[in-house]
Amino acid sequence: MVTRLDPKLFDATSEITWCAGCGDFAILKALKLALADLSIEPHQALVVSGIGCGSKLPDYMTINGFMTIHGRPLPVATAAKLANPDLHVVVVNGDGDSYGIGGNHFVQSCRRNPNITQIVENNQIYGLTKGQYSPTSDKGFVTTTSPDGAIELAFNPMSVALAAGATFIARAFAGEPKHLAQLIGEGIQHRGYALIDVLQPCVTFNRINTYDWYRKRIYHLEEEAYDPTNREAAWQKAHEWEERIPLGVLYRTDELPTYEDQVPTLADGSPVSRIIELSRNPRPQQYESLKEGFL
Ligand code: SF4
Repeated sequence: MVTRLDPKLFDATSEITWCAGCGDFAILKALKLALADLSIEPHQALVVSGIGCGSKLPDYMTINGFMTIHGRPLPVATAAKLANPDLHVVVVNGDGDSYGIGGNHFVQSCRRNPNITQIVENNQIYGLTKGQYSPTSDKGFVTTTSPDGAIELAFNPMSVALAAGATFIARAFAGEPKHLAQLIGEGIQHRGYALIDVLQPCVTFNRINTYDWYRKRIYHLEEEAYDPTNREAAWQKAHEWEERIPLGVLYRTDELPTYEDQVPTLADGSPVSRIIELSRNPRPQQYESLKEGFL
């Protein structure tokens, strides 16, 4: 039986600079709850983020953290997982960082299936830079950079993830932290890439997609006779928006190997588990033989 840890173990002393009421608070709380429920200690996990309001999250936890440059947390997280497959690696970043600047990394991670979990704080706006429209802003959304309304169609992360081969796709709402924590836990336990897209109200710059706006539309797939292993049903659910928005696991499959499972050089063990012997003043040839051992 797993002994549940105290979520306070992950508390940090740094000052949280998010606006009062921001959905990011619930995501921080839910991640701590999920890790505590799974009995994962701070030294056993790594949280990687990009740039944005939500990407400040690793600084607000006592845990291994890595804030990367804009849009790049996924490749860094994948590298960390390759180096140390025993580490629980979680990416936390916003919709702009993930689906815009880091869009290609998002698609490649879906098809590669590294055993990492990505939590996207999807507030449909760029909050840190004071409210420009983002990839997930709905068409017609008025912001400082779209004064006549956004003219592009909104990016649909659920259908893109499904089409790109993601093996775990879920959607949660920051207004329901316990349900969110449960989905994060399921994502961490899933062997492969897990996407948890979180509807996260930005109370300062997005006055359309508010807590109330979401509450009027969301419903739970767990309360319906829904089979998340049915890819065609997931495709239908991935396109529900505006009138009704499904929460829960839209799709999951355990049938594909992870990226790490298939990397030949990991067959002899992870890099961190191998004993590396170098003399006190190593010669260039020693570096060469070391390099060959990992390629
Ligand atoms: Fe949260 Fe928006 Fe404030 Fe950023 S600007 S901290 S996303 S409420």
